[in-house]
Amino acid sequence: MSTPSDPTVRIEPAVASTDTDRDAVLVTENLTKRFGGLTAVDSVDFTVDEGELRCLIGPNGAGKSTLLELITGQLSPTAGRVYFDGIDLTDVPSHERIDAGLSVKFQSPHIYEALTVAQNLQIPLQRTDRDDIRSAAHETLEEVGLAGRADAPAGDLSHGQQQRLEIGMATTLEPTLMLLDEPVAGMSVEETASVADLIRSLNDDGMTFVVIEHDMDFVRKISDQVTVLNQGSIFRQGAIEEIEADEAVQRIYLGEDA
Ligand code: ADP
Ligand code: MG
Repeated sequence: MSTPSDPTVRIEPAVASTDTDRDAVLVTENLTKRFGGLTAVDSVDFTVDEGELRCLIGPNGAGKSTLLELITGQLSPTAGRVYFDGIDLTDVPSHERIDAGLSVKFQSPHIYEALTVAQNLQIPLQRTDRDDIRSAAHETLEEVGLAGRADAPAGDLSHGQQQRLEIGMATTLEPTLMLLDEPVAGMSVEETASVADLIRSLNDDGMTFVVIEHDMDFVRKISDQVTVLNQGSIFRQGAIEEIEADEAVQRIYLGEDA
């Protein structure tokens, strides 16, 4: 029996039900992906509430990127369902998921180096029927701190600036849920801090995030709740302090360079 008025029932159980998870933006149910004999994502029940900034961590090969690509529809699951805003998106093509309010920045860069920074930002906006594409692009450029580079070819930007541009391209449509795969990989300390500030300020404005990240200093800066994936399954979920103090979590990272 459900007890919706009980204030102590805060953390959702692992078994998701779209009827009771009223504030859940994202729910995966038994989500599974096999590549031949390898189960990269194994029966994952993953729930993210509206307004959360959730970090997804785990050793190399844990299945983080695969889980993200199942959520965005880049990959089709072997089994299981993906619900977004209460709607079953499992069989919906990825471009329609973007229109539904789901946006992603993949691990590998996806910018157009020969186009200017401003032109890159206009690309996602051209999907819409907005008549203020230029001003919307400019507003996002301010937000990601690239207004001064608007007319530079994107290929001339530093690695950190390119990552910020891509985050801008992904957020300019003001998605309900933003998925970021390793947004600060290869960045300097200053660049990492500026991306942390950017994500936090977008989250303060109400955007929900799932951020895959290796850099624990970064995770500590941005996240309260952390999900640990290991061998395709959810291994732990909790506050960053608990996760970092957890010896079993430390053990699964042994032998990693991260
Ligand atoms: P993570 O992002 O946590 O490092 P991935 O999701 O990239 O992990 O990979 C999880 C596992 O699935 C790894 O063992 C990886 O080699 C495997 N894998 C990922 N993509 C493919 C693919 N397209 N074909 C075969 N195996 C894959
Ligand atoms: Mg990955």
